Amino acid sequence: MQKIDLLIKNGLVLDFEQKTEVKDVAIDDGKIIAVGKDLKNYDPLKVIEAQNKIVVPGFANTHTHAGMSYFKGLADDLPLMKWLTKFIWPTEKAFLSPKFVYDAALIGCAEMVKNGITIFNDMYFFGEQTAKAAEKVGIRAILGEGVLDAPVANYQKADEIFSYIKKMNEKFKEHELIDFAIAPHAIYTCGKENLIKAKDLAEKLDLLLHIHLSETRQEVEDCIKKHGMRPAQYLNSFGFFEGKVIAAHAIWLDEKEQEILANNDVSIAINTSSNLKLASGFDSFKSYIDHNVNLSIATDSVASNNNLSIIEEMSLTAKLQKVLNDDPTVLPAKQMVKIATLDGAKALDKSAYLGSIQIGKKADLILVDIDNIESQPLYDPFSHLVYSLSSEQIKDVIINGKMIMENRKLLNVDENELIEKARYYHDRIEKFTSS
Ligand SMILES: [Zn+2]
Repeated sequence: MQKIDLLIKNGLVLDFEQKTEVKDVAIDDGKIIAVGKDLKNYDPLKVIEAQNKIVVPGFANTHTHAGMSYFKGLADDLPLMKWLTKFIWPTEKAFLSPKFVYDAALIGCAEMVKNGITIFNDMYFFGEQTAKAAEKVGIRAILGEGVLDAPVANYQKADEIFSYIKKMNEKFKEHELIDFAIAPHAIYTCGKENLIKAKDLAEKLDLLLHIHLSETRQEVEDCIKKHGMRPAQYLNSFGFFEGKVIAAHAIWLDEKEQEILANNDVSIAINTSSNLKLASGFDSFKSYIDHNVNLSIATDSVASNNNLSIIEEMSLTAKLQKVLNDDPTVLPAKQMVKIATLDGAKALDKSAYLGSIQIGKKADLILVDIDNIESQPLYDPFSHLVYSLSSEQIKDVIINGKMIMENRKLLNVDENELIEKARYYHDRIEKFTSS
C-alpha cells in the first residue's frame, strides 16, 4: 500500500475529453497521482467521501485587482472615467499603503476561494502584500505590479517599479504558489517607452505581461487619433506581443486585431459583468473563437463587478454571447467550463500543470455539492455548472494538494476577523468619501 496525502472517493470527476464518471482521485505531494474507478492500492492520510459531489478543476480568474476589495459597492452606476476619477483614484490616493493592500487582498483571496477560484492573475500595487495575503489563504497568485507613467502608490517613476519587480521575482522565485508579472496598466496611462521597457524586462525574466486593452470605445478612438491605428495594432507596431501577454477586456477588437492576437498567442481575459455594469459595451466573441484567440474568464475587481463568482461569469458570458450572435449554439456549457479552467491556465502559461484533472497535474480542485434541490435532477454536470448552480454549492477547495476550504469554511483564515476588518475600513472610507 502506497502512503498518500489525500484520496477523493466516488466523485463525479469532470473530464473534457472522456466521459465524466464516478471515480477516485489520489493526491500526493501536491499532485494528482491517479484517477480511476475504485482505487485500492493507497493508504491515504485523509479521505474525502465525494459521492454526490462533482470534482471540478479549480477556476482560473485571469484578471482581478484583489487590493481593491474594500471598494466593493463604494460607487456604482457610473461611466468608467467618472467612476475612476471621482471615486476610485481619490480614495486610493488617500488610503493606499502596504497594510491596506494586505488587508484588502486577504478578504479578496478569501472571497475568491469561496467562489472556487484556485489561481488569480492580479494587477495592482504593493504586490508583495498581495503575495503574502495569497500565501496566508493558500491560493495560487500571479501578481502583476502595475506600471504607469504617472507617480503611483509609493513609486515616483516606472523605473522604480521595474526594480521592485526584479526584487520580488527573485524573492518569490521558488515559491509554490506565487509568481510575479509585469502589468502596464493600459496604453492611455503607459507610454511607448515604458511599454517597451516592460516588454523587455518580461522577456528577460520570463514573466507574463498583463494589460488592459480596448476596454472602451473611447480608448480605441483616442488611440486612432493619437497613433493613427487601433490599440492592438499600436502595441504590435513595437513588438509588445512578442512577450507572453494576457489582455484584459479586449472587447473592441476588429478582425485584424483578433488575427494579431491569435498569431502572437495572446490570450484574452473576459470580464462580462464589469463590462456590462460599466456599459463599456460588448463584442461578439464568436469571431475571436473563429480566429483561434484563446479566451479565459475573469471577474475584474469587486469594485466594478461587484462579486467574484466565476459561475455567474460563465452563465452571463454564455447567455450574452448567444444573444449577440442570435445563435444558442455559441459557447456551449462544456466549452464555457473549459474556458474558465484549462483555457484560463493556458492564458497564464500554466496549462502544463494546471486546469484539468489529469495524472501529473497539480491538485487544484473544487468539490461541488449536488445533493440539493437546485442540483437535481442532473443530466450533464457541465450544464449545471454554467446554468443551474451558484458558488454556494462549492463546498471544498483543494489547492496544491491541501484543503483550503472544507464544507464552506476557510481553514487558513478567521472569517470573523475578515468581516470585522472590512467594517473598520468601511467606516474610514465612508467618512472620507462623504466629506
Ligand atoms: Zn481591471
